[in-house]
Amino acid sequence: MSNPRVGFISLGCPKALVDSEQILTRLRSEGYQVSPNYKDSDLVIVNTCGFIDAAVEESLDSIGEALAENGRVIVTGCLGARQDEILARHPQVLKITGAHATDEVVSAVHEHLPPAHNPFTDLLPPQGIKLTPRHYAYLKISEGCNHRCTFCIIPSMRGDLVSRPIDEVMQEAERLADAGVKELLIVSQDTSAYGLDLKYQHRRWRGQDLQTRFYDLAAALGELGIWVRMHYVYPYPHVDQVVPLMAEGKILPYLDIPFQHANSRILKLMKRPAAAENNLERIKAWRNICPDLTIRSTFIVGFPGETEQEFEELLQFLSEAQMDRVGCFAYSPVKGAVANELPDSLPEEVKQQRLARFMAHQAAISAERLQRRVGRIETVLVDEVVEEGAVARSKSDAPEIDGQVFIDGATHLHVGDFVEVEIEEADEYDLWGKLI
Ligand code: SF4
Repeated sequence: MSNPRVGFISLGCPKALVDSEQILTRLRSEGYQVSPNYKDSDLVIVNTCGFIDAAVEESLDSIGEALAENGRVIVTGCLGARQDEILARHPQVLKITGAHATDEVVSAVHEHLPPAHNPFTDLLPPQGIKLTPRHYAYLKISEGCNHRCTFCIIPSMRGDLVSRPIDEVMQEAERLADAGVKELLIVSQDTSAYGLDLKYQHRRWRGQDLQTRFYDLAAALGELGIWVRMHYVYPYPHVDQVVPLMAEGKILPYLDIPFQHANSRILKLMKRPAAAENNLERIKAWRNICPDLTIRSTFIVGFPGETEQEFEELLQFLSEAQMDRVGCFAYSPVKGAVANELPDSLPEEVKQQRLARFMAHQAAISAERLQRRVGRIETVLVDEVVEEGAVARSKSDAPEIDGQVFIDGATHLHVGDFVEVEIEEADEYDLWGKLI
């Protein structure tokens, strides 16, 4: 009997990607094959996203496409929390689960497509199945979130914070490093809150006593000898302790901190974590300890009630904070979010104008900061080799969201190589360098 084949569509953020990897790893361990197209699949799993309305639409369309092309579909992921909406559009789906529901998805697969008798467990690579290229991997350290930001519905879909004990996380990190992964991207909804729900439980790893907390995790990951990049960190005072590890080169000097706004009234309306902290002071102190620190952030403009003056305060914050990488969205209501009830929503035109002003303001700052790197020697990691040369990333650049370093002519390099380059040119986003 040939092995049953499962098709997989993975939508959404890196956290959803990790869920997809866990489901695929389990299925492969039981002998299922993963099929790249609808036609050869016995059943299709769609891992959905429900973050903003556009993502909901994309998820519903993908379910529709999978049903039309294959007919047998299991739905999982964030949108699964809104069963009624899915069933209203696609009543014929076989099963719907919420996010982070590997067990439920696997039992639904068993029910509708029983596994073959002799599972090919030996076909499973020890690091599991990864959807990212082999040289980097996302490592999810917790699920859910204890905050209740008014524009966000993630806690209602994924629940409160549930951290993985530190020894489990470190064992996975070691397995990935042993399998050749050169860069780990640490993801969660709130990385700085790691371990809070476990009361910072003590566990043992490599003979050491470690607490399940952000600092111990960063220090332990720093022992693996590969790049470690921290995402979704909130600027709480205890984050200060991790910055010296960056200055010592243990983990990458990179912090992804979604500030979302700078005005205290808007931050309170948003119910943002660490809203009362003096973020400018904090950034200044971090840069004193680690001058090479790259800060990436995201912001929302046009939040209900945002005045022109409050928006200008945000632009002023950008000028003073001098962040390296910044993303921005015009506020758009998400079904079920508390912020939808707030008064004084802004006309779309004003939101779009503010978005354009914000982007132009930050583009000048980013360009100037990148320009300062011309002439420096930097270590970069090769992501891709194309006809014209190698496409790499520096310590300041996370894959897919930040910039790249182009090395013309370096076609002899391999994906996953670390090389030294001299930076020769910069625009507002990317760099060009030559091998030294
Ligand atoms: S911190 Fe706020 S935006 Fe982030 S997941 Fe939690 S509630 Fe949502």
